[in-house]
Amino acid sequence: MTTSPSRPSSVVLGAGLMGRLLAWQLARAGHAVTVYEAGGADAQGSPARIAAAMLAPLAESAVTEPSVVEMGRYALTRWPELLAQLSQPVFFQQDGTLIVWHRQDAADAQRFARLLQANQEKVPALPKMQALDATGMAEYEPALGNRFTQGLYLPGEGQLDNRQLLAALLHELQTLKVDLHWNSPRAPQDFAPGTAGQPDWVFDCRGLGAQAQWPQLRGIRGEVARIHAPEVTLRRPTRMVHPRYSIYIAPKQDHVFVIGATEIESNDLSPPSVRSTLELLSAAYAVHSGFAEARILEIASQCRPTLPDNLPAIRQLGPRSLQINGMYRHGFMISPALLDAVLELVHEQRTTLANSLDLHLETVPT
Ligand SMILES: Cc1cc2nc3c(=O)[nH]c(=O)nc-3n(C[C@H](O)[C@H](O)[C@H](O)COP(=O)(O)OP(=O)(O)OC[C@H]3O[C@@H](n4cnc5c(N)ncnc54)[C@H](O)[C@@H]3O)c2cc1C
Repeated sequence: MTTSPSRPSSVVLGAGLMGRLLAWQLARAGHAVTVYEAGGADAQGSPARIAAAMLAPLAESAVTEPSVVEMGRYALTRWPELLAQLSQPVFFQQDGTLIVWHRQDAADAQRFARLLQANQEKVPALPKMQALDATGMAEYEPALGNRFTQGLYLPGEGQLDNRQLLAALLHELQTLKVDLHWNSPRAPQDFAPGTAGQPDWVFDCRGLGAQAQWPQLRGIRGEVARIHAPEVTLRRPTRMVHPRYSIYIAPKQDHVFVIGATEIESNDLSPPSVRSTLELLSAAYAVHSGFAEARILEIASQCRPTLPDNLPAIRQLGPRSLQINGMYRHGFMISPALLDAVLELVHEQRTTLANSLDLHLETVPT
């Protein structure tokens, strides 16, 4: 971890989603990288491990700003390139998102459709949403065709397997001889980048673990179920519009489904509540009765690292000390954009990409 004119050195704090991605790309670019992670290599302490990892810019436009939607669009082209650089396979699918609702919730669904329509006009490059009738439903999702006679199809949206990704990134870090320190919490002030015997760069990717130095960060708790349902054959992430239980079901490989997720303003990391679990599972059963015979693999909770405006930010603590945080419920959808913006800043001292994506770049006053 010494400063060398020939080989720059970097310290990455946190080996969740952003930390692993950044450490990997810096090591590929020739940096000597050291990673400090508070937890273990299995990412148990990271929301990235329990996330559904959907890449759904138009669906998410209902709850976020056009800049995040643009970053999501960016990710849909960038993820395949990044995944192709990994030596282990990661499930990636780009078959669109399906949105369904029960007849009694048609008014809510209409409002939702109008909102997406308006958002689509703000980001015209997004593929056009399609309204599905009974025939369209039966064609796109035969498993649901007899239960839902209407739906919306959002082409081009995707998802990946978060656990395969975290494992594949770990494998790359090991192969590239990144210096990995597990169960080793650190803070940016433990380093003086650019001075003698210190790394050239420090990157703080600690998610909610950065709260002491970035007090505006807050947690938004999410609870999810992981289910094995051999009788269910959903092809793509499916969301249900509902006045109280707006769930999604993300089908991974081998009939594993991630069903989520609650959104509770809280830093509470205790296990999922009975109420949330009942709501998630009942709503999933209402989408497809095959979930009745499914087996529950896991019910988990985590908190999404979120800034006051619910938008991500890159913050400069010092000339060579960067914090990347606030990815809220969009980490997988926006991390490729954040990654490339940080790399551009480090390698080229430019902010062209960050500016074009309207990404917040802040400097902490000294
Ligand atoms: C239920 C749920 C569903 C989600 N679904 C989606 C989805 O469908 N699509 C999507 O795009 N996003 C989704 N997300 C969001 C996504 O998981 C997060 O945005 C993302 O994980 C944030 O990544 P991060 O690297 O900033 O932080 P994290 O993933 O939280 O990683 C931070 C890491 O830093 C470590 N750390 C903490 N303190 C220290 C310290 N002092 N020193 C060293 N290390 C430390 C932690 O242990 C952790 O490993 C979901 C999240 C949840 C909870």
